[in-house]
Amino acid sequence: MKQIDYELYKKAIIKYGSYNQIIKSVEELTELNKELLDNSFGADNIEHISEEMADVEIMLEQLKIIYNNIKKVKNYKQEKLERLRVRINE
Ligand SMILES: [Mg+2]
Repeated sequence: MKQIDYELYKKAIIKYGSYNQIIKSVEELTELNKELLDNSFGADNIEHISEEMADVEIMLEQLKIIYNNIKKVKNYKQEKLERLRVRINE
């Protein structure tokens, strides 16, 4: 994560509080969930999907700071990508 973004996220967490940012994350995930479901039912909503994906990415970055697990997430991601790489190449 870029240092400038990290500092902004940190300020947001201090300003709004960890609890509120966790609730906000759940809200943003729900909004993306809805857009993806709408799309699966035929909606032409790539603009909305794109916006909600951006919201979710922003909240995921803040969650990593709140839970102090940037490294853990990175390690799980690498592990899972490696597993996927193996499966895809089978
Ligand atoms: Mg949103």
